[in-house]
Amino acid sequence: KKIVIVGGVAGGSTAAARLRRLDEHAEIVMFEKGEHISFANCGLPYYIGETIKDRQKLLVQTVESMASRYKLDIRTFSEVIQINREKRSLVVRNVQTNEKYEETFDELILSPGARPIVPPIPGIEDAAALFTLRNIPDTDRIKSFIDNEKPKHAVVVGGGFIGLEMAENLHERGMEVTVVEMAEQVMAPLDYEMAAIIHKHLKEKGIHLLLNDGVKSFEENGTKVITQNGTEITTDFILLSIGVRPENELAKEAGLDVGKRGGIQVNEYLQTNDPNIYAIGDAIEVKDYMNGQPAMVPLAWPANRQGRAVADNIYGKKVSYKGTLGTSIAKVFDYTVAVTGNNEKTLDRLGISHEVVHVHPVSHAGYYPGASPIALKLVFDKVTGTIYGAQAVGKEGVDKRIDIIATAIKGGLTVLDLPDLELAYAPPYSSAKDPVNMAGYVAS
Ligand code: FAD
Repeated sequence: KKIVIVGGVAGGSTAAARLRRLDEHAEIVMFEKGEHISFANCGLPYYIGETIKDRQKLLVQTVESMASRYKLDIRTFSEVIQINREKRSLVVRNVQTNEKYEETFDELILSPGARPIVPPIPGIEDAAALFTLRNIPDTDRIKSFIDNEKPKHAVVVGGGFIGLEMAENLHERGMEVTVVEMAEQVMAPLDYEMAAIIHKHLKEKGIHLLLNDGVKSFEENGTKVITQNGTEITTDFILLSIGVRPENELAKEAGLDVGKRGGIQVNEYLQTNDPNIYAIGDAIEVKDYMNGQPAMVPLAWPANRQGRAVADNIYGKKVSYKGTLGTSIAKVFDYTVAVTGNNEKTLDRLGISHEVVHVHPVSHAGYYPGASPIALKLVFDKVTGTIYGAQAVGKEGVDKRIDIIATAIKGGLTVLDLPDLELAYAPPYSSAKDPVNMAGYVAS
């Protein structure tokens, strides 16, 4: 069997490794248009901020190590530019020589990811120090600009997870940072009152935060950012982080179905409308695990899970992907922000009635040094007890509580079960009544 993979990072590499474990003899070809495969996207902000000092550490697998370990035919600098479904073949362009050639497949896996959105804001073309962050070359450009030009001020456009991680890391590099966010709050997966804790913390850390405001234009080669509300910011570095758009061109041109927001559509076995072509990762439209609505959730866990599932499915295992819960986490200076499932904004939009509890327990026993409060919000159905989602913000122990609730949701537990979760306790770690138990008591 000859299996071809488009995209060699999170989803693509996972699928390749799993395919090899399932079949010693398959011919597996992986095309990647960039130079690197299997790198740590999620670590990029921390390398720029110099928490991660060694660039080598970002390269989880090199072409050589992965090719020899898994007996793969890995071709970097190779962009797949066309899919010919009738002939079951691809046109590949060597991006260094521009040479084109054809390659056949029996089964095809698309994991091309999503790219940063760059809207046609007036002046954007001439903004000299404007960056987006997706891969190693972007990271190298940003890092060397900071190392060489020593910018004093940065504007981060977009207050999502990547925007805020970068705001922190740019601040670490000594820059004064302004975050411009179109919505009334940062971090869309949080509800407003939870995001407000982060707004306050960002200000405490000296980050300038402009909410309900967008960029109207860039002027003077991007050294002036003019916002829609008329604020003029003088700067020497701009990061655009307003979201990503699925890389769907190949799929579209081949007549594969894409959804309203551009995600490649797949069935529960991750097959497109062509049964020999599968798609995974940031490029696909998934189902929201809670409400079943189409969703775009560009996160590493789904890409990895789908990468493994797709390989299993090609080998007839029928692993069904049930949807994405959107469990996610980020560090924002001294705070951790984490969420799972649906927030109130989403449930309100869909007209799903729900109940909410807020608790503010301490992360571990109050009498043991270092305890700090966790703001924990639980959203659930009052009648059935179904847990719709949870959000937590705090300095310690936030990750554990959200992961417990994410597990409870996937396990089909209700709020009535939360008091009965028997969780590990000693004073440095928790309380005899854990914050999750507490939320459960209040909810039931
Ligand atoms: P990618 O990993 O983006 O890989 C797609 C690859 O396909 C790319 O290398 C691209 O060059 C290649 N490609 C595209 N088109 C073609 C073509 N036609 N031919 C050949 N190759 C092609 N997620 C988290 O869960 N937690 C985090 O903390 C987190 N932090 C992040 C921080 C940053 C800065 C970024 C950019 C992302 C972060 N993510 C995080 C998101 C996570 O990295 C992605 O969800 C994940 O990488 C998606 O995997 P993928 O395989 O779909 O796409």
